Amino acid sequence: MATYACGHINPDSDSICSAISLSYLKNQIGEECIPARQGEINPETEFILNKFGMEKPLLKTSYAGENLYIVDYNNPLEAPKDIKEATIKGIVDHHKLGGLTTDEPLECWIRPVGCTNTIIKEIYDSYKVEIPKDIAGIMCCAILSDTVIFKSPTCTKVDTKACKELARIAGIEDVKALGMQLFNAKSDIAGATARELVTRDYKDFEMNGKKVGVGQLEVVDLGLFDNLKDDLFADLKALKEEGGRHTVMLLLTDIMNTGSQLLIVSDDESVIEKAFGVELKNSEVWLPKVLSRKKQIIPF
Ligand code: MN
Ligand code: MN
Repeated sequence: MATYACGHINPDSDSICSAISLSYLKNQIGEECIPARQGEINPETEFILNKFGMEKPLLKTSYAGENLYIVDYNNPLEAPKDIKEATIKGIVDHHKLGGLTTDEPLECWIRPVGCTNTIIKEIYDSYKVEIPKDIAGIMCCAILSDTVIFKSPTCTKVDTKACKELARIAGIEDVKALGMQLFNAKSDIAGATARELVTRDYKDFEMNGKKVGVGQLEVVDLGLFDNLKDDLFADLKALKEEGGRHTVMLLLTDIMNTGSQLLIVSDDESVIEKAFGVELKNSEVWLPKVLSRKKQIIPF
């Protein structure tokens, strides 16, 4: 029985970097732990790992009979299919609680901050474990990514402080410039299929007994999607039918102009119009100032 640290399905940079940073810490305090991931890494994460010379975590989607630290999620719909047969040793996360249960007591580090790596930085500090340069670098990048370079309403003072300390350890002089490099890498949609784009950063949620899926693509220029809208809508429709979902949405987030174009396929569009106090035009709407799925979409 081995112990793994692993983030959510459709992994983002925070999930991948958390698996690595938490595993290193656990190994330092005498607990063997292997970093893992549930899916392919996105172009932004690839940029981060290359920049700091880190290996991709192990691709592993089944955890029956294993010990598991879950990082950057606790929503059962983002967990491995056989999570009920794994022993959950702990959770490190910054999302709302979503219904996971365990058979045994566990370690929990859950805080309303902008990034899981901010919490992991606190865990390093509390165990007085030194953070190596390369790990500090990827943790710093995860914070820049999750907080949209400190612009997201999810970003707290704790995140900016942790990010600055990590940048100092990693020898990064200009964090905002590094953040822009990340989002330029993230904006790389060349050659990707509509399904790859819709599911690149996609989460399903259980809402009043109905399944609702929300994908998000954060880019530096929304013009990138001008010729892709029809394909994206067709795929959202297909995804909705395949999973018996009530609604599937895609947030096309413009990080430069701070807002999101929301594409919607739903059994009842009026629910969405009511939730956001807007009127849809051709199943789309521009939501100014909306950057965060977690804080500005899901609660409504
Ligand atoms: Mn995440
Ligand atoms: Mn996160």
